[in-house]
Amino acid sequence: MARSVILGAGVAGLAAAYHLQRLGEKDPLVLEKNPYPGGLAATMEWNGCRMDLGPHRIHTVYPRADELITEMVGEDLIVRKRTSQIFLDGQWMDYPPRAGEMFRKLGLLTAAKIGLSALQGKVRGLKNKVTGNPPESYGDYLAERFGPYVRELIFDPFALKVYREEADDLDVMVAKVRLASQGIFSMLKEAITGKTASAVKKFRYPKQGMGLISARLQQHIEKEGGEVLLGHEATRIRHTGGLVRSVEFEDPNGEKMSVEASRVITTIPLPILVDLLEPKPNQAVRDAAENLTYADSFLVYTLVNRKPLTPNCWMYFPGDETVFSRVYEICHFSPEMTPEGQSCLCAEIPARPADPVQFTDEEDLKQRVWEGFVETGMARDAECIDQVVLKIPRAYPIYRKGYKEDLGTILEHLSTLGNLISTGRHGLFHYNNSDHSLEMGRLAAEYARQTPEKSEGWYSKRDEFDRYRIVD
Ligand SMILES: Cc1cc2nc3c(=O)[nH]c(=O)nc-3n(C[C@H](O)[C@H](O)[C@H](O)COP(=O)(O)OP(=O)(O)OC[C@H]3O[C@@H](n4cnc5c(N)ncnc54)[C@H](O)[C@@H]3O)c2cc1C
Repeated sequence: MARSVILGAGVAGLAAAYHLQRLGEKDPLVLEKNPYPGGLAATMEWNGCRMDLGPHRIHTVYPRADELITEMVGEDLIVRKRTSQIFLDGQWMDYPPRAGEMFRKLGLLTAAKIGLSALQGKVRGLKNKVTGNPPESYGDYLAERFGPYVRELIFDPFALKVYREEADDLDVMVAKVRLASQGIFSMLKEAITGKTASAVKKFRYPKQGMGLISARLQQHIEKEGGEVLLGHEATRIRHTGGLVRSVEFEDPNGEKMSVEASRVITTIPLPILVDLLEPKPNQAVRDAAENLTYADSFLVYTLVNRKPLTPNCWMYFPGDETVFSRVYEICHFSPEMTPEGQSCLCAEIPARPADPVQFTDEEDLKQRVWEGFVETGMARDAECIDQVVLKIPRAYPIYRKGYKEDLGTILEHLSTLGNLISTGRHGLFHYNNSDHSLEMGRLAAEYARQTPEKSEGWYSKRDEFDRYRIVD
């Protein structure tokens, strides 16, 4: 008998299965290629530590996502104080910013240049408003918002380090999604304008790690009669007459299987999805999928013999003195995730496929991370007990200029498959947070139930999703 098949057991896929069940479908099948649920929001175990794949915290303004999180892990949520610092121009500074500290540490001349830069930006912004020229690139936006000096001092190097792209080559959408956040960008804005927009001083976190949400969702889905097959990779999606008929997949031993599908909700990356379709889409769609750009993430976890090593949950490194862009210390998220007397830090190194770090020997990378800890004063007199490197492919969708056309081409093609809905961070090439993916999973399930075999209306919702804002 045909059934709903969900591709990917990240939070979007699991939320889709959960909501299909609430809407009356008892037996959705979730296929996940990893041997664990959670996707990017999974939690791993190593040396007595529990570690998320990069720093994750819960912050949501969406009541339905909040309800689901509370239902799954409510009794395990702890409230943590948000503490962050930035390493800027060789100095540690608090985040959110204190303009006084920033100017004292960077010097009066720099403070004056920052002030002048902000003024130049303002004038440019006003001119553009009068002439009706809204910023099209991330670089244009930065020039208006912060002026040339601040842009060159901070944002251009940070764009290169995190997105591996010149700010002028990124779409203005990057600014829309990120500059409203509590990240490094707000910090500078707040320091420059003197207004403190940072409302989030505390955050919630499941005490055994972010992956607990997905683990509980999986249990719930299975208890209600659904199936979540881990280590099972979708390998082919067969369609005829505008409808998907079956999904082929491989189990962990490489054995091939097939399931008849009444509908597919997919959360896997669009380039993979396009490749799995049989018959294949035309060349223009395949080219568009090739053009979508991602950054992978190398995560170097370091176990040290002192707890805590820093006072911070998050630390940001926009400059090129360190190989990493961000570090998080796990015990500040949940003290019970690392062994007594030991602490674990995770250093994040974004990388595009051709970047040298992709070809760096793992031992060398560990060494460079440890040197970064020593040189920035983080390691102090602690000893490194052990290190491990994890690579997360396609961690970040990169909004390069032109991505909207490529995405449009792909989604237009997908809308010809009436019973297939692509959703989530990777299914809609959407730089988002996990609560957004929970929402996108729920909305996909509701749409599929209310509008069977008419997927085209779904893809116009992407503009709504563009209103979601990232919170670090
Ligand atoms: C470093 C970092 C920090 C973050 N910090 C936060 C934070 O603080 N707070 C927050 O809320 N969010 C944060 N996020 C974002 C959050 O992790 C994502 O928004 C969310 O996890 C995306 O969920 P998803 O289900 O849409 O996608 P994914 O998690 O990517 O799930 C897709 C799934 O599909 C599977 N898959 C792929 N191909 C196949 C195939 N062929 N067959 C079967 N399965 C397949 C993948 O293995 C994966 O499990 C962060 C992300 C990163 C990278």
